[in-house]
Amino acid sequence: MSIEQISSRQLGRNTKCRLCQAGSTISFNWQYALKNSKSDLPKIKNLYVNPQKLKTGTLYQCKSCGAHWYLDADKQLMNFVQEEKLDVISRWSETNLKLKAGHILALNNIGETPPDLYGNGSKCRETPCQVKTKNGDLFECAIVTIQSHAPFEEWREYKLASEIEEISESAYALPLDVRLATTQADEIRMGFAPTIVELSNGERSILNLTTNFLKINGISTSESKVCSERIKTSNMPPIYQAAEKVVYFVADPSDLEINASNKALNEDPKKPSLNGF
Ligand SMILES: [Zn+2]
Repeated sequence: MSIEQISSRQLGRNTKCRLCQAGSTISFNWQYALKNSKSDLPKIKNLYVNPQKLKTGTLYQCKSCGAHWYLDADKQLMNFVQEEKLDVISRWSETNLKLKAGHILALNNIGETPPDLYGNGSKCRETPCQVKTKNGDLFECAIVTIQSHAPFEEWREYKLASEIEEISESAYALPLDVRLATTQADEIRMGFAPTIVELSNGERSILNLTTNFLKINGISTSESKVCSERIKTSNMPPIYQAAEKVVYFVADPSDLEINASNKALNEDPKKPSLNGF
């Protein structure tokens, strides 16, 4: 189920604020909350104050506890924002993050990982790659994410696309057909949507949910292949436990990017269809 469809997402953590439910709620459907006064979602009348308009969307604070909340430009989802994310969100809002043509072409050549069957990821266009930054740092497991919303997701480490000097293929990014297969995998039980792959050493491994990278000593990630066999629950290959640190470089959507994508598509009919935001 897509996160956009459910009314709220809650973590198994303690609520720090009785009114806004900071600490336990990470996002909720703002329109649903407005229309349903009996819902157990945060009671919203006059609760969110100090509106701060951003590049897109608005940052608020809870009147009671001061926690920050981000409402997207469509006023659909209200999202809890950790204090640690305020700095990158502020820099994102003030900086032009449209990618250069050369960077867009590099991403198109690698191929983006589309949203999954359930629509997760539909608000970002993500391409796994290697990024060298202007100050010389190398990120072997990077994802350039073209998105119009603020970089608030707490489980991601964000940097700005303006820091990018060079984009190239990552030695640890899975081939496009394997990534596509992981986005198409059915969820056979809650949180388990497996894709079996054959690794370069002949062993098998299960990738769970959308998977962009695989980093195992002695394995050539680019030689990974999708296996079409059915999963036997009595004899399952091990599930790959991702240990690599992934850094997300957030970029703004632009006309240039769309034009360049179309151009790349026309040049290579095998490229996957591009998904909207
Ligand atoms: Zn609060």
